[in-house]
Amino acid sequence: MAYIIDGKKISQEIKDELKVQAEALRSKGMVGALAVIQVGDDPASSVYVRNKKNACAYIGIESLSYELKSSTTQQELLDLIRKLNGDDCVKGILVQLPLPEHIDENAVIQAISPQKDVDGFHPENVGAMVIGQEGFLPCTPAGIIQLLKRSKIEIAGKHCVIIGRSNIVGKPMALLMLREHATVTVTHSKTRNLKEVCKEADILIAALGKPQFITADYVKEGAVVIDVGIHRDAQNKLCGDVKFDEVEPLVSAITPVPGGVGPMTIAMLMHNCVESIAGKE
Ligand code: NAP
Repeated sequence: MAYIIDGKKISQEIKDELKVQAEALRSKGMVGALAVIQVGDDPASSVYVRNKKNACAYIGIESLSYELKSSTTQQELLDLIRKLNGDDCVKGILVQLPLPEHIDENAVIQAISPQKDVDGFHPENVGAMVIGQEGFLPCTPAGIIQLLKRSKIEIAGKHCVIIGRSNIVGKPMALLMLREHATVTVTHSKTRNLKEVCKEADILIAALGKPQFITADYVKEGAVVIDVGIHRDAQNKLCGDVKFDEVEPLVSAITPVPGGVGPMTIAMLMHNCVESIAGKE
């Protein structure tokens, strides 16, 4: 039986630690708000935004909501970001992705001040991560590092195979695992012999966005499996990129969906907000 890595419990621990830190900062007069911008009313985005605002309320950080019409122009969005960049009360700016097609995501990410980029997507923060300097780390990969560390899973010297090379999950995940001294292989849709490559992994991180794609024949016995995917199956139940029932009996530890990586993303966003209020970016 595999050890089930409990992301709900670990994220709660982190949020409770952050609540204490935010209170200590407040007592020294150090406060600040997270500005959350949503363009349009995509239902999934609305759920994410609501969860982020609830997490702020739990920790004791003010959140400011900007719900913009889907017809908002790129210029209007950039103007709002510039205004928030210049507002000393705002310590974090988050633009919920994806954006409507007429808005260039990269232009928006680059408009956010790197000092307020609590998602860790700005090129300056990405560059800092690459060369091991201080900066905001992207929340999902940083959350996975916390899941592993707080579950006492050794990373150094292990072979980590990551499936997916997106800018928000796969690529930063590879850099953070490298920083933790893993030997890293990054795979993608053009990788040959994916099964064989995955079977080499001591730690397998599935972030390909294909429901229940990773079956038992992709996994080495005793491996640790981290499932980043979030999907709804035919019965409308949440599932991941990994076929949990088939893989779980084989491995030493695994994250469930829901209750694995998902809650960690918000916990790490809150971590970045508290760091920003502390002026530690
Ligand atoms: P993405 O931008 O769609 O990237 C998917 C990556 O997987 C791409 O690099 C793609 O390769 C690769 N890929 C696709 N099919 C593949 C295949 N058959 N074999 C090998 N590689 C394949 O997705 P993402 O934004 O990284 O997200 C991945 C998943 O994580 C999604 O289900 C998303 O909903 C979920 N997610 C969860 C959280 C969370 O908080 N838990 C946060 C972010 C994302 P190419 O580059 O060659 O196209």
